[in-house]
Amino acid sequence: MADNVCPHCGYVNLKRAVFCFECGTALEQNKPIKGMKPRHQTDLDDTIEIDVKDTDPQLGIPPSIQELADAKATKELAAQYHDFLKCLRCGIDNLPTADVCQRCGAALMVPDENYGLRLLVSARSSVGQVRSNNEDNVGIWARSGVILALVADGMGGAAAGEEASRLAKEAVQADFTGALRGSEILQELTEEEVQQKLRDALHHANEAVLDKISQDKSYQGMGTTATMAFVRGNRIIVAHIGDSRAYLIDGEHGWVHQITDDHSFVEVLVASGHITREQASIHPMRSVLYRALGQVDAVEADLYTQYLKAGDCLVLCSDGLTRHLEGDEIGEIVKRVGDPEAISQELIDLANVRGGEDNISVVVVKAVSDESTVPLEKLVVINIEDERPPKSADNLFQTAQFGSFDLDQILGDEDPSET
Ligand SMILES: [Zn+2]
Ligand SMILES: [Zn+2]
Repeated sequence: MADNVCPHCGYVNLKRAVFCFECGTALEQNKPIKGMKPRHQTDLDDTIEIDVKDTDPQLGIPPSIQELADAKATKELAAQYHDFLKCLRCGIDNLPTADVCQRCGAALMVPDENYGLRLLVSARSSVGQVRSNNEDNVGIWARSGVILALVADGMGGAAAGEEASRLAKEAVQADFTGALRGSEILQELTEEEVQQKLRDALHHANEAVLDKISQDKSYQGMGTTATMAFVRGNRIIVAHIGDSRAYLIDGEHGWVHQITDDHSFVEVLVASGHITREQASIHPMRSVLYRALGQVDAVEADLYTQYLKAGDCLVLCSDGLTRHLEGDEIGEIVKRVGDPEAISQELIDLANVRGGEDNISVVVVKAVSDESTVPLEKLVVINIEDERPPKSADNLFQTAQFGSFDLDQILGDEDPSET
């Protein structure tokens, strides 16, 4: 198969990618539908058709938030966010607070009808106080109330570590975004199917890192951790390789549960009673992993499942956070602060105050109870001309010359809100 080159920006995408990782353009060679097909919504495919008459004539698509962020008026707003919520349907960036994808109209944050839960997310990454580059990558994606989150901590020095964690993010996005990759049916998959999908994504991420190393020897020795969480309804499924961590903080009692086990040598020494937890924290080999992406062909992810109830909070983080903060302290901040955006900021600030020895990355997914659950079909389509922009993104949509586009055309004739 030829390289998966973006016709718009020229970026060479991973072969499985349905949308360009850089600019979000639908990739030509993926047009024939193969592989995973929607179970019900057979009218949808991955090609998001946009009425080009009101959009950027050069792009042919509405600008992404990154492009909007270049505009002076939106710079400040965009600067508040380190990472955007990526639409699992079309791969474009949205503000973490958006309900609906700004490009394709897919519902992002829909409260689950059965559990009355609404998910709020935030992702941030800081270079820290010592390092000159950030080898971590964070990702958050959403569709129909399903949240996918990733923290990847690259290793192998400077550019290599950065590339490894970025490739993990790109591979995860290629595996989950678009109908070809099953984004239409994430709500319906069994837990076993979700687990397999997470395993596959990490397997493909591993391949992507190894491929890059084989193509370019300067990347020799690079690798990355990957801690992923798939959140749907009241369930969390975590897939994990390396020493980034997932914590679950109980909103009612404040219990802090470390979901993942570190795949580090010191963790083995602690588990076997050779050293204490305190000795481990200053051990010279504390960052050495026995399992990571980019090391061997067959890499096995640990899978965990947990329940989520209103008030509970899931925190994914790189070791740059846990080097400086104990689990109990993370739990204390989560409980006291409440809002995910503020939680992620305070966690990172505290790690930086305590020395910021490594890159610090945090993803926070909080479940809050939402009695005013809006039915999915009411949110699937918004009409931007209808003065119903996604809430909390009001400023952005007012200041950006966004243009309008025909959502009926994008979503086909079977739009339930039109009947
Ligand atoms: Zn592109
Ligand atoms: Zn979208």
